[in-house]
Amino acid sequence: MQIFKQWESDIRGYCRLYPTVFTRASNARQVDENGKSYIDFFAGAGVLNFGHNNERMKKALIEFIQRDGVAHSLDMHTDVKRDFIAAFVDTILKPRGWNHKLQFMGPTGSNAVEAALKLARKVTGRHDVVAFEHGFHGMTLGSLACTANNYFREAAGVPLGHVIRQPFGSEDVPLKRCLEYVDELRAMFEDSSSGLAKPAAFVLEPIQAEGGVHVARAQWLKAISELAEDLGALVIYDDIQAGCGRTGRYFSFDEAGVVPDIVTLAKGLGGFGTAIAMALVKPEYDSYWQPSEHTGTFRGQGFSFVAGREALRYFENDEFGQRVESHGRYMRQRLDALVDSHGGAGFAVRGRGMMQGLDVGSGELASAILAESFRSGLLIGTCGTGGRVLKLIPPLTIDDDDLTAGLDILEQATTKAHREAA
Ligand code: PMP
Repeated sequence: MQIFKQWESDIRGYCRLYPTVFTRASNARQVDENGKSYIDFFAGAGVLNFGHNNERMKKALIEFIQRDGVAHSLDMHTDVKRDFIAAFVDTILKPRGWNHKLQFMGPTGSNAVEAALKLARKVTGRHDVVAFEHGFHGMTLGSLACTANNYFREAAGVPLGHVIRQPFGSEDVPLKRCLEYVDELRAMFEDSSSGLAKPAAFVLEPIQAEGGVHVARAQWLKAISELAEDLGALVIYDDIQAGCGRTGRYFSFDEAGVVPDIVTLAKGLGGFGTAIAMALVKPEYDSYWQPSEHTGTFRGQGFSFVAGREALRYFENDEFGQRVESHGRYMRQRLDALVDSHGGAGFAVRGRGMMQGLDVGSGELASAILAESFRSGLLIGTCGTGGRVLKLIPPLTIDDDDLTAGLDILEQATTKAHREAA
């Protein structure tokens, strides 16, 4: 451990929460160098949707290396990129009747958001974008301007401008109020003396992940789309954490029946923890790009195309999604029971599918639960204001026993930490 403390930057974060050295991982299990095995409810912050060292992906990657496949290609054509694009079109776009183009960029979520913001500004010739309370969109200046959390914003070192911050229409807020948010904003934009310039885009997470697991109401999403259309602004959905099957459907917003102008994806898209980011862009907007206007050295990720292509096989029929939904229901049921057994503590559960959040009301208590879970062999992360929400995002491929055992640990850790805090 000493080498990390001495030589690695003070910026390190998660390793402070999980103070051990990991050496192996398989599906929903991560093992440290002392041989202690942990159940993983964190899954690389939503990257490892298909588990650690997914067998199908591992096999495909080994074959790819053994045949000397092209691992890095900038944006040159390769066979594996062609296979990935074809599979994405057939499995995800065509069944939805979409004709969005696939834009690749540097392989981080932040980079996908930057590209989306740039394009929306280019298309509309406008500067401002509407972003939402509790939103998280990345750490680079454009995406950080859209991110709401002040801890991250204050590290920017320059003013983060051109964002109009609005309340998020989540399921925790009555529908009537959510729709009023949009009406009030519309009235501002329509009043030529409101001082508000028309926006280039509305950028939102259909399910806010880092912000505390807040699920957007479908009718609010529709109202935002209508307002955007009336204003000539684009709608950008950031599905970087909640997408790629996390909720049972491929996109977290599939049930809302809205077709965004741009969707950003990263994290689970590469399947194996292999980095890749992508924006889905309606062709009428994509045509505004000039060749190589938004580049990125690592936008031709052979390993990510190979593993990501395998990931798409899970979505060829409904079987996998139904399993995710059923596991999600089980998680929800267990968390609801946990909240009931702590009646009066003010806990709450939010989420959809296999992204569920347990809001325990305070960051201190959530940290104590996290630490106790870690001691008992469960990796889990916190999110939301002051870190008060425990976010459960296990691999979608987790087996029933590990899911149950992980929830058991969380239940015991919560009871213990809550008792000690009282
Ligand atoms: N958008 C969302 C919704 C995210 O959850 C994240 C990462 N937590 C990002 C953007 C940024 O992705 P990255 O860290 O890969 O830049």
